[in-house]
Amino acid sequence: MARTADVDELVGRARAGDPRSVGRLITLVEDGASQLRGLMATLAPLSGRTHVVGLTGSPGVGKSTTTSALVSRYRANNHRVGVLAVDPSSPFSGGALLGDRIRMQEHATDREVFIRSMASRGHLGGLASATPQAVRVLDAAGCDPVLVETVGVGQSEVEVAGEADTTVVLLAPGMGDGIQAAKAGILEIGDVFVVNKADRDGADATARELRHMISLAPSEQGAWRPPVLKIVATQGTGLTELIDAIGSHRDWLESSGTGLLRRRQRARSEIQGIALATLQERFAGLGGDGALDALADEVASGQLDAFTAADRIVASIAG
Ligand code: GDP
Repeated sequence: MARTADVDELVGRARAGDPRSVGRLITLVEDGASQLRGLMATLAPLSGRTHVVGLTGSPGVGKSTTTSALVSRYRANNHRVGVLAVDPSSPFSGGALLGDRIRMQEHATDREVFIRSMASRGHLGGLASATPQAVRVLDAAGCDPVLVETVGVGQSEVEVAGEADTTVVLLAPGMGDGIQAAKAGILEIGDVFVVNKADRDGADATARELRHMISLAPSEQGAWRPPVLKIVATQGTGLTELIDAIGSHRDWLESSGTGLLRRRQRARSEIQGIALATLQERFAGLGGDGALDALADEVASGQLDAFTAADRIVASIAG
């Protein structure tokens, strides 16, 4: 285990762009290591500069291909880029998903690209707080943007949107049409919609339908109108427009003040996650399960009501 002095040294080397130090710091975040608190205090003044772009959509829609193509474009513009692949649906997998992903291999030897998959083995506050902490590491290392790709399905898409400044929702013809997007609740979370695989039939229809559904949503004066773009990620077609749309959304976040609100909302969830997890740890540390069993017996037999029992638990944690 690294000592505090080592952590400071790692941060110094990460800021200089050393990939191994960045990797070790993210591992500290993932593992919820004891030095995490000190690391976050060190990183706080060094972060808050990067733009976080979330990419989400059903498996097979082309997220990883699109992420890789975006990395190429940003690199061509001399950006240092961070990529996090997050799997909120199996937070304890601990696997190096992205490391095995072939499409990312072309960036594997580029020292200006930092690619990591995120797990949250035993992380205090779970993945919800592990992701922003890993983003801070990449931010301090000078990555801008940081691309956060969701690996996994379902509700997790919506959760990851909360972590991003700009959320890019990907669909593909025949996979998720507008109706399904609406059902899955992803119409609300998208800042930019991308119909990938536009080399296939049905892309125009999917784009049209999406535009229609977006136009039905109530919109205030000055609100952001999510664009719908068609791309072919495998060929890099439409990527310039996608980069431009992400850039326009970033400008809008800045000029409208929405960016600040989103960052505050993110910080709120992070604080809440850590605080609740800390309470849970304390509860467990107090022999919580045993105490809970004893109270549960009393409630089950009608000797005590559940509210009074809960009050006792809360009092013992706080005390
Ligand atoms: P993910 O699961 O969302 O990350 O999707 P992947 O990026 O792994 O892509 C799934 C499959 O779709 C792969 O076989 C890709 O080669 C293919 N694919 C990705 N983008 C395109 C595209 O623009 N056109 C076509 N025809 N296939 C694509």
